Parts: sequence; structure tokens; C-alpha cells
Amino acid sequence: MQPGTGEPLEQCPWLKKVLDQNMYTCDIYYDRPDDCKFYPSTLDEMVIDECEMIEKKDLVNPKQAQKELDLIMEDSRVEFEEN
Ligand code: SF4
Repeated sequence: MQPGTGEPLEQCPWLKKVLDQNMYTCDIYYDRPDDCKFYPSTLDEMVIDECEMIEKKDLVNPKQAQKELDLIMEDSRVEFEEN
């Protein structure tokens, strides 16, 4: 939301394109909100949000996909548990 007006923004103001690359980075990565740190937490959440990172194999075997997601997100979750 735009703080002054409450209008929804088209994208996060902290999301920055890496110069000359088709990549993006978070300008406040180490201080990003908890919602960012833990997203996504479940495959179902990714499906609801139509996340572009879901692969066909994930939908065929959602239990395995959730295991892989848990492994990928392990570092973020540990960071939260330590704070
Ligand atoms: S991680 Fe969060 S704060 Fe950072 S760019 Fe993405 S949405 Fe914005």
C-alpha cells in the first residue's frame, strides 16, 4: 500500500532489477518483513497465489514438493526460531 494514500502498489518498492540481468533482488533482504521471510510456507499457499515457481511435477506429487519446499525454506525458518 502507498503509505500516503492507502492505494495498492503494483509491486513492492524494495524489489529492484539487477542491472543488465533478468534478475531481481530485495533492497531490504536482511530486514525484510516476516511474511517475506516465510513465504511460501506450503504448496497449497503457492497454488492459491498461482505462484510461478510451481512445476507440474509438484502438483503430481504434492507431498514430495512440500518436502522440497521445507528444505529450501529451512534457512529462513531457522533464522526466525533464533530471534
Ligand atoms: S522480499 Fe518482501 S520486501 Fe523484499 S522485495 Fe520481496 S516483497 Fe519486497
